Amino acid sequence: KTAAAPRRLVILGATGSIGASTIDLVERNPDRFSVVALAAGRDHAALARLARSLKPEFVAIRDEEAYGALKEALAGTNIQVGAGPEAIVEAALREADLVVSAIVGAAGVEPTHAALEAGREVALANKECLVCAGAPFMRTAERAGIRLLPMDSEHNAIFQALGGADPATIERMTITASGGPFRTWSKEAIEKATVAEALKHPNWSMGPKITVDSATMMNKGLELIEAHHLFGVPAEKLDVVVHPQSIVHGLVSFADGAVTAGMGAPDMRVPIAHCLGFPERMAAPTPRLDLAAIGTLTFEKPDFERFPSLRLALDALGAGGGLPTVLNAANEIAVQAFLAGKIPFGGIARHVSDAIEAAIADGSAREPSSVAEALTIDHIVRERSRAVLAA
Ligand code: NAD
Ligand code: MG
Repeated sequence: KTAAAPRRLVILGATGSIGASTIDLVERNPDRFSVVALAAGRDHAALARLARSLKPEFVAIRDEEAYGALKEALAGTNIQVGAGPEAIVEAALREADLVVSAIVGAAGVEPTHAALEAGREVALANKECLVCAGAPFMRTAERAGIRLLPMDSEHNAIFQALGGADPATIERMTITASGGPFRTWSKEAIEKATVAEALKHPNWSMGPKITVDSATMMNKGLELIEAHHLFGVPAEKLDVVVHPQSIVHGLVSFADGAVTAGMGAPDMRVPIAHCLGFPERMAAPTPRLDLAAIGTLTFEKPDFERFPSLRLALDALGAGGGLPTVLNAANEIAVQAFLAGKIPFGGIARHVSDAIEAAIADGSAREPSSVAEALTIDHIVRERSRAVLAA
């Protein structure tokens, strides 16, 4: 919708990295968008600041203890305030044209799923939704007649590269990986990498969880599972190639040998603008791609030996059932434990591997038939991981 009717947005995860990039585009296009609700985890001061400038009807904070401070910071406005997990769902259900799903982790599953069930259009940055509960999640979208808009850069590039092609003609879908900060490091050096080293991503500026996932390359594994669900493509047709310049984000290979690629400067506002404008294109102040200035684009095979998390995710995708759900939950807790200094970098993949074996052994990795069942598995694995890692 254009000038006459601004597109009404709900932004879940408003205080995060994707939230900030989304809000940057919204603020540059005040006639095009209005924000009806904002939700965040615990940073009530940042949420209040955003609310005062964007003037939504409703703001929700996950941390119940932040309710008083948020309420006080918004005194004198007519913005309604809610706290706790139900308030996040309430934000997701506000009457809107598009829900931007940018909470980090499986915490995003319930509100995003609620929005889909209510028939809202959803732009999905939160890949963990599809790793934790992919099949039931996609069934809900289908039932509601909603096409999820991929906001993750690789999936957005593939979505654009597909150009509405007949799925039967697709031979291969490839996502690229920057390789992260440890692309050229030895296995021994990676094992002992510090938190500061893991948080120094070469190309993208992102929240801490996804930045660590990029360093282990678990992020690419999660993205393969995400692609499988988003595009309905079997694991055998999915591929990863390491591309340190992060200029080509995703490729589609067709039966006639043609390959289309989605490209752009590594700035999340490119895919975000595509989703916010869709099906139109909006202008965005993103860096323009200058191929001659870049000069060389390189590609290499991923190394499963140095990046075992990628292998674990590929195996979970291949085995299916509840293993992706287990993988995701164990990884979230292991990343938290690493960031808290409780386990070494190499311990992340070791923990995920142990958690998968434990789940196979005790039958908790059964295929979840609903989002609720996926969240039950998620909860069990999380508790067990917390106990094991003392996280
Ligand atoms: P971030 O850590 O910067 O932000 C996370 C947001 O979620 C914050 O607003 C935080 O307050 C909120 N949040 C955290 N826990 C919550 C909870 N329990 N309930 C409600 N809100 C909660 O993370 P990010 O980098 O913006 O990533 C968000 C999602 O987008 C992740 O799933 C990530 O994988 C995906 N993604 C991010 C990027 C990127 O460039 N940052 C790129 C592709 C995909
Ligand atoms: Mg990505």
